[in-house]
Amino acid sequence: MTTTVLLAATSTGISTSRKVLLRKIFFAELTSDRVQVSEKLIHPLQKVEETLSPFGYRIYIKEGYRSRSLYDIVYKKRVEKFGKEETDSLLNMEGIPHAEGLSVDVALWSLSDNQEVYLRNGNDGVGALFINFYRNKPDTASQQYQELQDLVISTMMTCGFRLGTKREYFHFDYRPNNPPNYT
Ligand SMILES: [Zn+2]
Repeated sequence: MTTTVLLAATSTGISTSRKVLLRKIFFAELTSDRVQVSEKLIHPLQKVEETLSPFGYRIYIKEGYRSRSLYDIVYKKRVEKFGKEETDSLLNMEGIPHAEGLSVDVALWSLSDNQEVYLRNGNDGVGALFINFYRNKPDTASQQYQELQDLVISTMMTCGFRLGTKREYFHFDYRPNNPPNYT
């Protein structure tokens, strides 16, 4: 896959293009204009799209396949920047689920506005990356975030995806034979 090829070490050490790529990967939080996933996800993701369409949304795949070497780089860089504790709470280095190509990080995309729909307030910190952060909070914005997250999670569950071990509201593993893990 493209990522692996680009990250392959060169015999002359770290090339300029590799350094540029590493910088890009880190500062862009791994988001590029192309995301790769296993072909096993094509039909399930099409089903997700069909389910969300009546609500006025598409699914926005923000991350998919991530190689083992990319995991290592990201882990090291994030520990340097955010510390080990925060990094360990977010990055599953034991399972490295994205390396299978069966995991995705998703958001909603508005069909009418043609832009991403935010499922949390960026000022709410790391805690807001996990499910139920907004549950039972009285303000309207929190209730809307919770409703949108519930829509995403229930749709993904219906289509064979399961929440990851970190219980982030946006990370799903395709595990149709496992029971749904969100109530
Ligand atoms: Zn993920």
